[in-house]
Formats: sequence, structure tokens, C-alpha cells
Amino acid sequence: MIPVEKNKEYTVTVDAVSSDGNGIAHIDGFAVFIPRTVDGDEVKILVVKVKSRFAYGKLLEIITPSNKRAEVTCSAYKRCGGCQLRHIKYDSQLEIKKDIVENAMQRIGGFENFEVEKIVGMDNPERYRNKMVFPIGFVNGKTECGFYAQRSHDIIPLKDCLIGDKLNSEINKAVITYMNDNNIPPYDEINHRGIVRRVFTRTSHSTGEVMVVISANVTTLPKSKKLVNILRTTSDRISSIILNINTKRNNLVITDNNVTLWGKNCILDTLCGIEFEISPESFFQVNPIQTEKLYNTALEYAELNKNTSVMDIYCGIGTISLCAATKAKNVIGIEIVERAIEDAKENAKRNNINNAVFYADSAENIVPLLIEKGEKPDVVILDPPRKGSDEKTLSAIIKAQPQRIVYVSCNPATLARDARFLADRGYFISKSSAFDLFPHTTHVECVVLMSSVDG
Ligand code: SAH
Repeated sequence: MIPVEKNKEYTVTVDAVSSDGNGIAHIDGFAVFIPRTVDGDEVKILVVKVKSRFAYGKLLEIITPSNKRAEVTCSAYKRCGGCQLRHIKYDSQLEIKKDIVENAMQRIGGFENFEVEKIVGMDNPERYRNKMVFPIGFVNGKTECGFYAQRSHDIIPLKDCLIGDKLNSEINKAVITYMNDNNIPPYDEINHRGIVRRVFTRTSHSTGEVMVVISANVTTLPKSKKLVNILRTTSDRISSIILNINTKRNNLVITDNNVTLWGKNCILDTLCGIEFEISPESFFQVNPIQTEKLYNTALEYAELNKNTSVMDIYCGIGTISLCAATKAKNVIGIEIVERAIEDAKENAKRNNINNAVFYADSAENIVPLLIEKGEKPDVVILDPPRKGSDEKTLSAIIKAQPQRIVYVSCNPATLARDARFLADRGYFISKSSAFDLFPHTTHVECVVLMSSVDG
């Protein structure tokens, strides 16, 4: 018997938060997920969906707020879905993330009593993102810029997002003014007409410079000088204005077809003292302050010296590889995206690093080949995408018998699975930490050191 009914109201006390950020309450032992609540809240809810093992409730009223509740100052919070934990005090958010990691390691990985040694949060958990995308469209006949409502392409007007740079709101206003003053219509994805699709900005944490990219359905932007003028008077931090051409019927955020309208083609940022050149489409970590802390811990776990050889698998544009190369004998970086490997090689040259080589190939293909050919890294660093690594890659690593494996992960569930694979083959978890790279969201990054039982 399911003890809850659809379309009925209940008063419940939330007792936990799930890994996707919903509060959980129990009605006669039956779990009800309630978005935008936190444990300790006493709330009135409407049950909106009932499944065989759980239900979903909609928050109607907070009767007694939890002492973990924070005031929400973002006007878009309810419709955006980007910051699922914004209603929770930051310290409590960190506790929730630590629990998510520990639960995954214990339940999926079977590491009994596993505890993360530390979770590293931000001193100021706002305005951390160095890359923002604002779609542009007509809303009630007016050109507006904002974000897409959850699971839709309806634009909700919002010029400023609290996790991005404050300057974005000025940039967005300037672009709208340019469009209104010059009769430049926004792009309409239904009939594939109109011009401006979105504003995309990238900010350098180290220099403060900003790149503004206008994604548009044209090969030449009308009155582009007017756009350049208005943006240049908006802020002298803007050092690059780029047209990103996308005339196809798709919704790609960015294509590889860029025309520089004014200023530089790339902006520069630094991570752990290494300079990186960032083009509109480069992959670059979005929270450099926290990324540095994460990398420093990964490198500390790697215990590098001038005799250590390193293999950095899933290396992206070579950020970890190049930071490691300054401390190690040599580094091999492996990454599936060719363009990222080109950037990695460029970045190596720019920083006069000549003990790093890079291969553009899938890990599952090249790692076994390199190890078969006799590569014997002392330390393997891996930083896979959310789906984690795979048995071919992990088995090849085991074959090479590195002293240490430093696993950097953005998904505790796949980390737990892969760490179990390694733990069953001669490695044990000797250190672990978690990092909050995305405050107010449920995402969490981890670094785990796995050492060989044979020493
Ligand atoms: N270490 C980098 C990037 C980590 S993101 C950094 O810190 O910036 C994970 C990377 O793995 C992405 O760049 C993605 O393109 C790459 N990737 C995904 N699947 C892969 C595979 N099968 N083989 C190699 N690289 C892969």
C-alpha cells in the first residue's frame, strides 16, 4: 500500500537531501522528494507524482524553516534550476557534498566507513564562473537576454547571474541596446530567422580581461562597428570581441567559426603559475580559484620529483600535465579531443615546457598500447569525464604497476566504481579530499590517492 496520494496536501518534516539536491521527507516510511527544501524544514506540500517506491512533492509553504536555510537573493532561482542548493547555507551545502561522496564510496565502492579527509569550499562562493552564456530572444515582443527556463527554451529575462562576473549585466545591456538601436532581431529557432542567438563571455581570473562572443546566424554582423563601440565604452576590461558564426539549424552554444571584430583572438589566464591561452571554444575549468586548490592537492598526492615519470590521462588542454611537468622528469598527456591536444602543445611551448608529450586518442585505445610498448609511469593521474574510466584503461594502468594513482573525479558514483576496480587489484585509498568547484549546485570534485600495496 502506497501511503501517499497524488494531488493531496501533506505537512511533513524534511529529513535529508538527495544527491540531486532535493529534500527528502518520509510519510509512513515512504520517500517524498521535495525540490528547494532542506533537512529540518517543516513544510506543507502538494504531492504531484507518485511512483511505486517514491513520490514527488511541490513546496507550498514553509511552516518552520530549518536552521540550515539561507536567504535567496536571486530573482531567477525558482525558474532557473541552475543553483539547486541556493536556499541552503554554504557550510551546510559543503556538508551535503561531503555526504554525497562518502555515501557513493561506501555504497557503490564498498569502502566501509570511508571518510573524506576534507572538503574545501570557497571563501566567497559567488561570482566564481569565468564563462557564461546568455541566450537572446523575443519575450512579449521585446528583445531580452536571460537564461532558459528548466527543461525548455523559453527565455527568462535576467541580465545578471550571481555566479558570473558582475560585468556581464553591463555587457548584456550593451548588446541589447545595440540590437534595439540598429533593428537587429534576435534569432528565432522555430522558423530559423533573425540574427543574434546569444552572448557568451569568458573572463580571465588572473588578468581580469574579458572576451565577449556574439553567436549569430550571419556571416557578417550588421553595424558591427556600433557593437564594438558600445562594448568598448562599457568597460576597458573587454579585450576581445568576437563574432561566432552559426548559420545552421541547430542550437550549438559555440561553433569553431570565429571572426574577431575587435581586439585579441584569445585571452590569457594562469593556473598554478602556468599561462594558458583561451580561445572562444577552448575547454578551460570554469572556477579557476578552486581548480588551483584541486590541482595543488592532486600534485601533492602525486609526490613528484625530477625522477618521476607521469601519465596524465583525460588531460584536456594539458592543465594538470603542464603543472606536473614543472616538477617531474616527464609527462605523457592523453586526451580524445584533437583541438584540446593542439592547445596543450601550444600551451607547453608558450611556457617553455619541453618534457611533456601529448597524444590525441581515446584512453582505452592508447593507454594499453603505450604500456604494451614499455611505458612505465611512476605516477598515473586520471581525470575522466562524468562516466568515469573503463576497464581497458584501468587494466592497462594495473599492468604498468605505477607507485601511485591520483584519481581526480567530477562524479563520486563512477569514482567509487573505478576505485573498487583498482582496490581489488593491488591499490588502496591512502588519501582523499573533496573540492567545491560549483557552489550552490550539487556538483562536487574529488581527488583520491591510491597507492600500491607493494609500496
Ligand atoms: N584534466 C583536464 C580535463 C578533464 S575533463 C582538466 O583538468 O582541465 C575530462 C576530459 O576527458 C575531457 O577533456 C574529455 O574530452 C576527455 N575524454 C573524454 N572521453 C575520453 C576518452 N575516452 N579518452 C580520452 N579522453 C577522453
